[in-house]
Parts: sequence; C-alpha cells; structure tokens
Amino acid sequence: MPRAVLFDMFGTLLPGGSRAERDAVTGAMAADLGVGVADLAALWAATYDDRARGLLGDLDDTLAFLSGRLGADPTPDARARAAARRLEFTASLHRRTWALPALTALADVGVPIGLVSDCTIETPMVWDAGPLAGFFGAVSMSCVTGIRKPEPEAYLRATGDLGVDPGECLFVGDGGSHELSGAAALGMTVRRYTSPHSGDRVDPDTWDGPQIDNLLGVLDLL
Ligand SMILES: [Mg+2]
Repeated sequence: MPRAVLFDMFGTLLPGGSRAERDAVTGAMAADLGVGVADLAALWAATYDDRARGLLGDLDDTLAFLSGRLGADPTPDARARAAARRLEFTASLHRRTWALPALTALADVGVPIGLVSDCTIETPMVWDAGPLAGFFGAVSMSCVTGIRKPEPEAYLRATGDLGVDPGECLFVGDGGSHELSGAAALGMTVRRYTSPHSGDRVDPDTWDGPQIDNLLGVLDLL
C-alpha cells in the first residue's frame, strides 16, 4: 500500500482556467505590452515548453523577451502591469482549489504529500502565499528544475525530498503531460483524477488505469 501521495496541480488540485479566462488575460496583457492579441496568444502557446522549463527567466524577463520577438519594447511599468495581471490570474486559480478537504484529511493522518507540476514561472511566484503550500513536504516544479513530466527526475525530486521510494507513492493527476504513464513506469500506484473542473490538458495521457472522481478517495488507497 502506498504511504505517500504525489499530486499533479492543474486540473487536479485547482483549475487551469477556461479558454475564455485565459484569452481575456492574454488580451489585457497584449494591450499593456503594445503587441497584438493574437500574436501574443500564439507566441505564449509556442513558448510553453521553454517557459515550463524556466528557460526564459523571471516573469519580467519573459515579458520583455516575448514583446521583443513581436517587435515591441514596452516600458518597465508596462511590463509590470502585464506581470501583475498574469500573477493575479494565477493566484485566482489557486484560490479556487477544491483540494483542501482531501489535503487536510491526509495531513491529519500524517501522510507525506508532494507536488509534481509542469508549470511556468507564475506558479512559484504565487505558491508560498497561496492556500496549498503548507500541506506539501516536497515541491517539484518544472520551471524551477528544468525537468518536465514524464521525465523520471521530475518525480524523483519529490520522492527524494519526501524521503520515500517511488514504489511507496500514489500518484494522482488528471493526465496531462503523460504524467500517469511516467509515474507508473517508476512503479508508483496511479489514479487518474477525473473531474468537470479538469478542463484542457496539455499532452493528454493515453494511460488506461483506474480513476477517482473525488480526491477524498485517496484516503481509501493508503
Ligand atoms: Mg494536470
């Protein structure tokens, strides 16, 4: 039986945001930066892997780089407005977490909890002040480590920090980034989390194993 739990973040603990929400933020950022909305949206998507691996620097560096690629040179104040908009959007996603009952129940029984997330620089910027950080004994974020799921090291950073072997872990995720196959390959017990909240997934996983539709169900698997 697993004795520790690793969670994906977007679509598993909190929403990734609807396309309409994301488009609205991108549109407002484009206006701040003086670039075209469609151009920024396309470049934002095209640079996802680089951003998820932390290759474009901090958020201000990222906005300066993307603006430059689109032929703009926004002022520091303009970049700061766009950054603040993006950060507030990300923080709003964290405030909409549905995971607190399950995380609280796991903490109450002393289960080690880790995060394995493919995410961009905004996430670590809002994480510590958000509602989830206090529950997690290990955090593996791709934009910090440079390593994305399903690469084994993405998971092993978290298991190492928790002091557990992969075979002692339950991995729960909605299946983006081929994360379920990656966890299973390391010998973890795996559950796909299915929820109306889950929304769009990046690189959907074809792994075909057991599912849960309520995170409190994790308690029954330990
Ligand atoms: Mg996900």
